[in-house]
Amino acid sequence: MKIAILPGDGIGPEIMAQAVKVLNVLGERFELESADVGGAGYAAHGHPLPPATLALAKAADAVLFGAVGDYQYDSLERALRPEQAILGLRRELGLFANLRPAILYPELAGASTLKPEVVSGLDILIIRELTGDIYFGKPRGVRECPDGPFKGEREGFDTMRYAETEIRRIAHVAFQAAQKRGQRVTSVDKANVLETGQFWRDIVTDVHKEYAGVALEHMYVDNAAMQLVRAPKKFDVMVTGNMFGDILSDCAAMLTGSIGMLPSASLDANNKGLYEPSHGSAPDIAGKGIANPLATILSAAMMLRFSLNKAEQADRIETAVKKVLAQGVRTGDIYEQGTHKVSTEEMGNAVVRALG
Ligand code: NAD
Repeated sequence: MKIAILPGDGIGPEIMAQAVKVLNVLGERFELESADVGGAGYAAHGHPLPPATLALAKAADAVLFGAVGDYQYDSLERALRPEQAILGLRRELGLFANLRPAILYPELAGASTLKPEVVSGLDILIIRELTGDIYFGKPRGVRECPDGPFKGEREGFDTMRYAETEIRRIAHVAFQAAQKRGQRVTSVDKANVLETGQFWRDIVTDVHKEYAGVALEHMYVDNAAMQLVRAPKKFDVMVTGNMFGDILSDCAAMLTGSIGMLPSASLDANNKGLYEPSHGSAPDIAGKGIANPLATILSAAMMLRFSLNKAEQADRIETAVKKVLAQGVRTGDIYEQGTHKVSTEEMGNAVVRALG
């Protein structure tokens, strides 16, 4: 099995080195091949997604991605900025389903901004549609307002749209994920106001007929945002469109205290995927050896489960991470008094030791 390793910029190479260390001690015969991406791709090859990197990502069975971006590239024209590499990979690999688990290990309950009893033991999965919705819908632009009370003024406009196929395929991903977890799906929309929302709801309801063992509830997005901070443990799998998912998944991320703990997956129709931590390249701490590598290590676990069919190895990594946290080993972002503060590398070593 071939894995494309794309470390990227900032803390990317530091956290990726720890994930690679973990993959190498599992006793599997993975072929790991690295390539430049983001700012590193631009610096070495003049483009954030060099052709050789894209070719490697396409040829591999899965992609493990660090993070991209650095202040030094902020003045580049938009098409050459590091972040374009992610959009290019999503488009070229047809990655339409973004899976973001939000798990709060009981040992880290104190790191959340919510009360420990509200979040301790939280384990939810947010599934965001990635390629449709108002972010890509056309027409869009700035024009002369054609009607209404502001007729003749300049106005900005975008188009929210979802094709039936786009909704069906993301609904299948959600129901199948729920089958492997708590058997419950909450579909989030704005059906009371938006035509797209009612259409989304109708199609999800229709797909649900194929999943008799899974319970489905529909929720308006404003209520979902409220419930996420009021009683987040009531959710199992939440599925929603691109824009609502963008907002709700960041909200869920913060429930868990540190962004340094959160993995993510972006999947295509055949479960081939790109796996990356939910955080960025953290240029403020790059090179200091203090970044938390657990989100990347947990992303590697998701890769084993969803793309490489190695659920047992994924369980092993997740159990090792729990063990390390229970031992009180902490990087700075999750440190509390009474625990043991370690570097990025020491955290990686601790996970390797816990794997036995
Ligand atoms: P960020 O996630 O990089 O950092 C936000 C804060 O979280 C910083 O204080 C950082 O030090 C901290 N942090 C992030 N990851 C951490 C970790 N593993 N351990 C400890 N602390 C961690 O977000 P930002 O500062 O808004 O963006 C920085 C750069 O990253 C920008 O260039 C942005 O475009 C890029 N970015 C890339 C991705 C990606 O590669 N997928 C995602 C988001 C942002």
